[in-house]
Amino acid sequence: PSAMREVILEIPKISWEDVGGQKEVKMQLKEAVEWPQKYQDSFRSLGILPPKGVLMFGPPGCSKTLLARAVASEAGLNFLAVKGPELFSMWVGESEKAVRSLFAKATANAPSIIFFDEIDSLASIRGKESDGVSVGDRVISQLLVEMDGLQKRVDVTVIAATNRPDNIDPALLRPGRFDRLLYVGPPNVVDREDIFRVHLCKMPCSIDVSPKELALCTEGCSGADIFQICREAALAALEETFDASCISMKHLEHAISRAQPSLVQFDQT
Ligand code: ATP
Repeated sequence: PSAMREVILEIPKISWEDVGGQKEVKMQLKEAVEWPQKYQDSFRSLGILPPKGVLMFGPPGCSKTLLARAVASEAGLNFLAVKGPELFSMWVGESEKAVRSLFAKATANAPSIIFFDEIDSLASIRGKESDGVSVGDRVISQLLVEMDGLQKRVDVTVIAATNRPDNIDPALLRPGRFDRLLYVGPPNVVDREDIFRVHLCKMPCSIDVSPKELALCTEGCSGADIFQICREAALAALEETFDASCISMKHLEHAISRAQPSLVQFDQT
């Protein structure tokens, strides 16, 4: 059966402020994606080639997807997102067709971004077909053909993301392909404070709530963990009083005590 669905085209509504921390990566995304479009003439006259593809790598839940959506939104680009495994089909030729139609759609809706999440999954599908070529290999070669086809276009940007950069097919990393690598790391204590602020500012909080203190006791937490903590705290507040609920430090501390930080092995602070 075909695993493919119609890829949805969207214009995300996520601003840079919605992403806590990651200052450096935000800047690099602006440079790699926004500038080449905004300042096409200057790039041309200076003879600088913009990066063909951007690969974001880093631990799970640390805002790769969020950043890709934010750069699309801030630069006013259409956004097409697809997860690696979604491109697979058991039918010979169907996976390649899916890649082709994805790029055709992105081109028809330029300026646009194609976002490939879990790009490493392509390399790991090694089930050989009768002619000795795996579906993963076929999808990768079609992807490379399509990226080469974009050679002269700056209005379609390809961004990929992975938690496992060691598992990426080296062919994808050659010049002219995914030639801009961005490390999206775990949040340090200042970033965590920022992430708490991003989420809590959308919720009613009592005045005792201190993002700074929360950041200090959430070592090893990813942005996704922090989002989950805020959600749990909101639910606890709701349980207490169904009307006029307000999140207090007590709710947040309780949620933190139950959370399982997913990045302990990556921690920096
Ligand atoms: P994966 O590798 O698992 O796909 P990811 O790096 O793409 O993860 P996201 O999907 O961007 O992570 O993050 C998941 C959710 O966690 C976001 O939708 C958001 O709610 C929250 N989150 C992650 N990082 C941040 C951040 N820096 N600021 C605010 N929220 C964040």
